[in-house]
Amino acid sequence: MNADIRVRFAPSPTGFMHLGNVRAALFNYLFAEHHQGTFVLRIEDTDASRNLDVASQKIFDDLKWLGLSYDEGPVVGGKYAPYNQSDRSRHYEKHLNELIANQKVYRCFCTTEDLGKKRERQIALKKPPRYDRTCLHLSEEKVKDKVVHGIPFVWRFALNSDQLITIRDLAKGDVNFEMHNFADFPLTRSDGSFTFMFANFVDDWEMKITHVLRGEDHLSNTALQAALYDAFAVQLPTFWHLPMICNVEGKKLSKRDFGFSLDDLIQDGFLPEAVVNYLATIGVSSEQEVQSLEELVKSYDFSHVSGAAAVRYSVEKLIWFNHQWIQKISIDRLVSLCMPFLEKEFDKKVVSLVKDLDQKILLVRSEMKQLGDILSLLRFCFVEPVYSRTALLEVVPEEKFSLVQSLLQVGLNDATNPDVFVEKMKQELKMQKGLASFFWKSLRYALTGAFSGMNFKDCSQLLAKDQLESRIQKLLK
Ligand code: GLU
Repeated sequence: MNADIRVRFAPSPTGFMHLGNVRAALFNYLFAEHHQGTFVLRIEDTDASRNLDVASQKIFDDLKWLGLSYDEGPVVGGKYAPYNQSDRSRHYEKHLNELIANQKVYRCFCTTEDLGKKRERQIALKKPPRYDRTCLHLSEEKVKDKVVHGIPFVWRFALNSDQLITIRDLAKGDVNFEMHNFADFPLTRSDGSFTFMFANFVDDWEMKITHVLRGEDHLSNTALQAALYDAFAVQLPTFWHLPMICNVEGKKLSKRDFGFSLDDLIQDGFLPEAVVNYLATIGVSSEQEVQSLEELVKSYDFSHVSGAAAVRYSVEKLIWFNHQWIQKISIDRLVSLCMPFLEKEFDKKVVSLVKDLDQKILLVRSEMKQLGDILSLLRFCFVEPVYSRTALLEVVPEEKFSLVQSLLQVGLNDATNPDVFVEKMKQELKMQKGLASFFWKSLRYALTGAFSGMNFKDCSQLLAKDQLESRIQKLLK
């Protein structure tokens, strides 16, 4: 293990993972594994209003589903435990006290309302909306007076506006931030809890994180956190601001887009291999597109990462990867993945009575792009088709149907021996010009309740002999 390289995935327990989170988790995992470093999971649960246990468990489950294991984190523990921010207040307090002692922070008594009004005024004057440092200029006496009277306040970090801070980003190289473009920012909330900006910085520092891989949307947070690193004279980690995931129209992926949350994809029958494979290679051109997690760990070229601000997410491409992976995994695994779909749609008992389910799935797997496709492909094996004479006669004219029936009489005895039957019928059909398509359509309708789809031989392999016979008999009646 390369003890030097330490990365972390630091989700907030929101109750679900969106694809941006999944991608951040994945890249941190790949980066750690590629460099034999350490992958840390940290739960950023400073917002006490959420049901944290359930939401954290969801994160553990989702990471497990994806196959992204971590070396340190809640439950598994580690050298820098605890890994839940809700248990780390004393760490934040300690460092806040240092900043107070060094006069790098000041109390801000401005209310949310005051701040809102100031903001509106600045926007109206076409000025960048930014905290105007009212409280930095309060006299010591005034501050004391407000404290004595119990006026709520937050601690704000006093930026040095003349400063130019440079961070290193794996994709962008050196990025400069002129601090006069930023405003003094809060490190605490008025209830005394700590903000994301501060807790996230303290943890990265204390947990000795060497590389911070997170979304491009955190770039301005990085600027402010770089000022905190500077205030404590500690070395900055290297950053990689991952391109944002956009929909096909180029807009940031939102709840309205299919596949925004990992749950959507799981429910829709995507495989973890496909999700991981797609998210790792989106926006990267590679000769070998289909790669497992282990292959990605080896092949990913972290020395040439894209500096693009955004990548386009295409459901079609994800489906393509899923189709590939459905063909690649073992049949046993495919059967167990299909099981919940089948049992939900058809009765559990009905599913358990179906013989040779693996053979059946094997026969239709090339048609499967998503796991749920198994339902339409195999429905006729689980439920008796419902026939309608009107529907049949719309596709097969009555006089043709009579011919189909006579022909079937001839072949009926061989119907359960598909090879012989097909040969015999083909010979017969040669003599009856223009009947073939009606014949096979009628037969397919009898077996599956649909006019198009699989050929007779495949259908017949999916049905038991008695089913085959009884369904053909129905066509004769
Ligand atoms: N809790 C933050 C988020 O979920 C973490 C961002 C980071 O990786 O620093 O966006």
